[in-house]
Amino acid sequence: MAVTRTFSIIKPDATRRNLTGAVTKMLEEAGLRVVASKRIHMTREQAEGFYAVHKERPFFGELCDFMMSEPVVVQVLEGEDAVTRNRDIMGATNPADAAEGTIRKTHALSIGENTVHGSDSDENAAIEIAYFFKPEEIVG
Ligand code: UDP
Repeated sequence: MAVTRTFSIIKPDATRRNLTGAVTKMLEEAGLRVVASKRIHMTREQAEGFYAVHKERPFFGELCDFMMSEPVVVQVLEGEDAVTRNRDIMGATNPADAAEGTIRKTHALSIGENTVHGSDSDENAAIEIAYFFKPEEIVG
């Protein structure tokens, strides 16, 4: 299996509850390495641009408001088959459906306030990493 990268966000519900370390520990224990990380407060432009794929969905406005409500931690994660590995440790979008031991089952509050974002394909990972990080900010 190839070593690849994925993009992660520790969302406002987690930073607000001081769970940055707890979430990062779960990512690391799943075999992912944090090769870039920064805490930012998203602007409306950043949130709407990042989630542009969802702009026709009924939850778009609420999702962008939530992502701008408190700081987030954006990260680049590296590991074997990083996208799939991260999706596995994140768990299902709705924490009620997430498997035991996943980040969302353990920490998420609701389908909206669900603690983490993770890219869903290698192609989107590359786009999302470039949206928030300059190449020199990633130190593998
Ligand atoms: N979301 C929401 N309501 C929904 C579905 C999604 O608020 O009914 C939010 C939720 O925060 C989710 C994000 O929109 O993480 C992106 O949705 P997606 O279906 O891409 O889920 P993910 O890839 O994050 O599991």
